Amino acid sequence: MTITRFAPSPTGYLHIGGLRTALYCYLVSKNKNGKFLLRIEDTDLARNSKEAAAAIEEAFEWTGLSYDGEVVYQSNRFDLYKSYVQKLLDEGKAYRCYMSKEELDAMRAEQTAAKQRPHYDGRYRDFTGEPPAGVEPVIRIKAPREGEISFVDGVKGEVHFNVSDMLDDFIIARSDGTPTYNFVVTIDDALMEITDVIRGDDHLSNTPKQIVIYNALGFKIPKFYHVPMILNHQGKKLSKRDGALDVMEYKRAGYLPEALLNFLVRLGWSHGDQEIFSLEEMIQFFDPNHINKSASAFNEEKLVWINAQYIKQLDADRLIKELEYFNLSLADHPKAHELIDLLRDRAKTLVELADMARAIINAPTDYDAKAYKKFIKGDALENLKAFKQTLEAHESCSSAEAFEVLAKQFLEEKGLKLKDLAQPLRIAMVGGAVSPSVFGVLSIIGHQNVIARIERLLNHKGKNDE
Ligand code: GLU
Repeated sequence: MTITRFAPSPTGYLHIGGLRTALYCYLVSKNKNGKFLLRIEDTDLARNSKEAAAAIEEAFEWTGLSYDGEVVYQSNRFDLYKSYVQKLLDEGKAYRCYMSKEELDAMRAEQTAAKQRPHYDGRYRDFTGEPPAGVEPVIRIKAPREGEISFVDGVKGEVHFNVSDMLDDFIIARSDGTPTYNFVVTIDDALMEITDVIRGDDHLSNTPKQIVIYNALGFKIPKFYHVPMILNHQGKKLSKRDGALDVMEYKRAGYLPEALLNFLVRLGWSHGDQEIFSLEEMIQFFDPNHINKSASAFNEEKLVWINAQYIKQLDADRLIKELEYFNLSLADHPKAHELIDLLRDRAKTLVELADMARAIINAPTDYDAKAYKKFIKGDALENLKAFKQTLEAHESCSSAEAFEVLAKQFLEEKGLKLKDLAQPLRIAMVGGAVSPSVFGVLSIIGHQNVIARIERLLNHKGKNDE
């Protein structure tokens, strides 16, 4: 069975690069009917916080990517890690090293002076003597001393590391007994039976160390996929200055989670020319062996475009639910669906959709001065007044079509053109000269409220005129 995991370190919020990795992990597992696990890598007690872990889980929940089983917290598993350190000690595959910091520094300085790579020289590897007093040892693993560590990466292809260039007997447990990063990642990946490790390529140089640990413990080595990072337009690592990094900022800015996921899946992978993917399609088509080898550039305009596509076609009830986050409750509005359908093609974000909806639902408290000056002149007020009378004399219009039929009749009788009425009416309804179809707007506002809003503009006369 294919089992993947997303393993964020809770040093802050969930950022979009992390979310992309999580998505790729999710898709790979779901494509194979496998499992997708979430592991919080919170062993660095100084840098990690409970708040950050909670924020990551909250962001995760928003994205709708569901994980299988319980979240695994590394901070709960210290005893487990220690038992594996002990196992390696018992088997002679790891050893205690009593070198003090001063000794280590001196050794490194000598190596550097001799133009060697600073590394641990293995002096306690076969030590059988009396340990120096007062030194709490670290535990080091016996790593190979020569040759290569190689593996086939699903993204990078064959990867070779020359042992003499980068490896030494590295520390697996510190002098206070806490296990080190690469050690716990390996133990967890092995015990959680992860078959496919998909992660950022900033972890590529950790992989040979992890392979040493897999081998020492006789664990099966998973398949690795190291995903290139997301860059900005200048080809530099994406930073806060290039836009939001925190996934939740995208929520606050009015993006739909499925649009963000759709954007992220394409950032580093493609399937022909297709741009819009449902989650089911992503699961079906995504192939981690086709992840781009080169880094991808973040393009906010593309995200905006994708979001707009989702707003155009998403189920109205779902949009109504999403708008609650932006303090807009349409649940009890009798024409909520009609309102959404009237606006959805014009909104690029939920923030825009909420603003446009509010501008229709709430009577204007003021009128746009420019629009007022331009359109409330000549016979405009007279025409509005006459149309109001027509409305008052008529049975209640309950649809855009009914308003349109009535308005056309009225215009014909008066010998007027649509433009003589439409803009002044818009200003009366929404306070400005821009709105979707005016009859659509009238239908949402409702017959009696349309009359009231015209009345309000008529009473307003003079205030904008000076
Ligand atoms: N905790 C690591 C990170 O947040 C990921 C480790 C891994 O995927 O192996 O970058």
